[in-house]
Amino acid sequence: MHFDAIGRVPGDPILGLMGAYASDPNPNKFDLGVGVYKDAQGLTPIPRSVKLAEQRLVDRQDTKIYIGGHGDAAFGKVINELVLGSDSKLIATQTPGGTGALRLSADFIAHCLPGRGVWLSDPTWPIHETIFAAAGVKVSHYPYVGNDNRLDVEAMLATLNQVPEGDVVLLHACCHNPTGFDLGHADWQRVLDVVRSRKLLPLIDFAYQGFGDGLEQDAWAVRLFAAELPEVLITSSCSKNFGLYRDRTGALIVCTQDAEKLLDVRSQLAHIARNLWSTPPDHGAAVVATILGDAELKRLWIDEVEAMRQRIAQLRAGLVEALQPHGLAERFAHIGVQRGMFSYTGLSPAQVQALREQHSVYMVSSGRANVAGIDATRLDLLASAIASVCKG
Ligand code: PMP
Repeated sequence: MHFDAIGRVPGDPILGLMGAYASDPNPNKFDLGVGVYKDAQGLTPIPRSVKLAEQRLVDRQDTKIYIGGHGDAAFGKVINELVLGSDSKLIATQTPGGTGALRLSADFIAHCLPGRGVWLSDPTWPIHETIFAAAGVKVSHYPYVGNDNRLDVEAMLATLNQVPEGDVVLLHACCHNPTGFDLGHADWQRVLDVVRSRKLLPLIDFAYQGFGDGLEQDAWAVRLFAAELPEVLITSSCSKNFGLYRDRTGALIVCTQDAEKLLDVRSQLAHIARNLWSTPPDHGAAVVATILGDAELKRLWIDEVEAMRQRIAQLRAGLVEALQPHGLAERFAHIGVQRGMFSYTGLSPAQVQALREQHSVYMVSSGRANVAGIDATRLDLLASAIASVCKG
């Protein structure tokens, strides 16, 4: 038969972890695996601003005709302003999620910049690895976090200094996935200097705007690069900060030397997108355009993002505090320094396994924990579980 030679590929390990968590009868279990925001009730709710915008769309939207290859222009404008600031006049290309923006970037590099490789942080979000490989772009790595579970900026810069001229360097704008370690302003300046002197093309992945230090603060590095360099690629995701995960809402912003070149590049993007998904899905982007285009809804959304950010920050501080009586506050102090939902805890695969088997605490075997999945009322229990596998 035609399909006889087709084997099976392993499923996503994080989805397997979700299944194991769901079937665990322990009422005191913790789901720190899958990378979605959770509130105090352990739910991933639809923000109120999104619900209100959806209601408006139900009432007012009068057609479902295709939107163009670049998506909704109103969305392209407001998302660009959210990312680059209100004085930026660029229009983003709408994509199915941040993943779509990354895939579009990867195909753009493969088709329009042939021979250029891409450099990813070690470690990075696993889909970065596969998406560029799938597009036929050579993938290499620069060090980011050392074996001591500390950000290693010197090693990162030393490698970037050796990267062939013209290659693409992928940087996480904030809330680095999976480690939670972000570059400081001075570090970003140094990375910018290397990118400029080596004539590299930066591709900045911005999937967690608002989850680090705030909506504006998190955009600092992206805006620095866009201001200082003539050419930058930026991918943005609305999955986390708008809670629009399944509505597949994202954008690719391209900074070019001049307006004429922007037209050339955008024509290529529309052409590539036509062969990937034809035109992007509308709903999520229409929701975002409605929220950001309305002062009241925008105000409400800003408050909702800030509440999510503060919950994560409080959980980080709370966990370190809860580890104090166990003499582990210093060892895990980095959890309070990291940003965003994820924490490279520094726990070994064996400790992660013991946490799962003995305490029903589920996290990725690399030691990555989703801090947003912590139940704030059971911090002491989690700290005791961590202490027991650290001492055991
Ligand atoms: N980049 C990073 C670093 C991510 O963690 C994610 C989401 N897990 C994305 C991009 C893309 O997310 P989405 O496609 O849901 O917008």
